[in-house]
Amino acid sequence: MRIHFDNSYAHLGSPLSLPQRPDPVSSPELIRVNEGLAEDLGIDSGWLASEEGVQILSGNALPEGAEPVATAYAGHQFGNFNPQLGDGRAVLLGEVLSTHDRRFDLQLKGSGRTPWSRGGDGRSPLGPVLREYIVSEAMAALGVPTTRALAAVATGETVVRDGLEPGAILTRVASSHLRIGTLQYFAAREDRDSMARIVEHALARHYPDAQNTDLPALALLNRVIEAQAALVARWQMLGFIHGVMNTDNMLLSGETVDYGPCAFMEQFNPDTVFSSIDTQGRYAYSNQPGIAHWNLARLAESLLPLIDDDTDQAVAQATTAIQRFPELFAEAHRAALAEKLGLSDFNEQDQDLANDLFSALAEDKADFTLAFRFLAEDIKPDSEGTGADTLFSPGKHFLEWLPRWKQRQEREDEALVTRQARMLRASPAFIPRNHLIQRAITDAEGGDYTLFHRLVDRLANPSRFDLKDRELAIPAEPQERVLRTFCGT
Ligand code: AMP
Ligand code: MG
Repeated sequence: MRIHFDNSYAHLGSPLSLPQRPDPVSSPELIRVNEGLAEDLGIDSGWLASEEGVQILSGNALPEGAEPVATAYAGHQFGNFNPQLGDGRAVLLGEVLSTHDRRFDLQLKGSGRTPWSRGGDGRSPLGPVLREYIVSEAMAALGVPTTRALAAVATGETVVRDGLEPGAILTRVASSHLRIGTLQYFAAREDRDSMARIVEHALARHYPDAQNTDLPALALLNRVIEAQAALVARWQMLGFIHGVMNTDNMLLSGETVDYGPCAFMEQFNPDTVFSSIDTQGRYAYSNQPGIAHWNLARLAESLLPLIDDDTDQAVAQATTAIQRFPELFAEAHRAALAEKLGLSDFNEQDQDLANDLFSALAEDKADFTLAFRFLAEDIKPDSEGTGADTLFSPGKHFLEWLPRWKQRQEREDEALVTRQARMLRASPAFIPRNHLIQRAITDAEGGDYTLFHRLVDRLANPSRFDLKDRELAIPAEPQERVLRTFCGT
């Protein structure tokens, strides 16, 4: 066996998932295999890139041991509950155990129609596949919990969107694809048995140390709340805007999933929205923590019948859990801010200092990434600093704020080198900038994958600056700015 499958979710059977083979495509061609990830999963990357591997990555052949299924889920989309979504353009090929004995889903995204496709074609255009590959791999390198990209193939077929676009398939790797919406699907059908099975499965997979409890549903709820609070704090600290924080796009594992209309903010503005369909700004940067909280409340609601037969008791317990979110988020956010500002502790005055920095960045319309990177470089002006500070021209408000931070630094007693190393890790020089992603996609649509590969390679080391990649680190010129992003549908 080339891939060592061990398919625990498929074995839970219907109605959690339905057997579903991927639909073949006419002439698949490999775009990229993620060699490091393949090896972590115990898969020979050379074989995966071979003719035989590409047949599998395109859905034309099934690897031995795969038991492909489409999974059921529901979800609140932009606040409205849809009781039936499900994998409409993806199949779960199966699960593999990594060389570190961790379990991962292997999913083909863009693999054809399924019983959940509704009016959709089950396919994915090239652009969204490349976007997800670039951004999810960058997030992984930035240390953010996320699904990964194992491979991308072009299908040789076209898909109809605004016009005709080349088709592609992404092989996605995730700790699991269990979503808040997975539990919502069965809650909406009052299928307590399926819910209990999912809860048990999710705990075993993601939070094994929380398994021994009389109240698995409550344990799971608490763990997901903790994981999501930590996750969204990481997003905020990188200026990452998810764009479609629907409950079907929030994983129980606490990994980021669904890189549709996502983007990293350049000029700091808390109201930033990228998604073309988010006309109300529901998923704006500054709303992300509140939306995560709201989504978790939907998870809590769906778990109520498993928490206690007495509804009042169940509501009381779930409410106590949900009310932990704001403080858990604030704590994770403070910890991340302390890292970025090079502080060993973080008190109320430090919070004021940070708030004033954010106001200054907004006033100056400063680039979020480069401003923090400037601080990380500037803390030790004569060090082997990487030179990325030269990319940032500090604005008036930032310069007014800077001496206060320097003064605050004087109270720190950890060695400067250590502090700087930590700051440089927390504040990358490179993020996947939207105009570069867009350019990489446009080039690829014309057959040139150079920029796509260059971006993926560069973003694998986002904190190590190199002057030769300067153009990949600087913000878009006004005429290059991409202000709207689109779902991959
Ligand atoms: P997403 O926007 O990826 O979160 O998808 C929301 C829902 O729409 C999921 O149930 C998807 O499976 C489904 N969907 C999105 N695009 C397609 C498509 N091209 N064909 C079929 N179903 C789709
Ligand atoms: Mg989705």
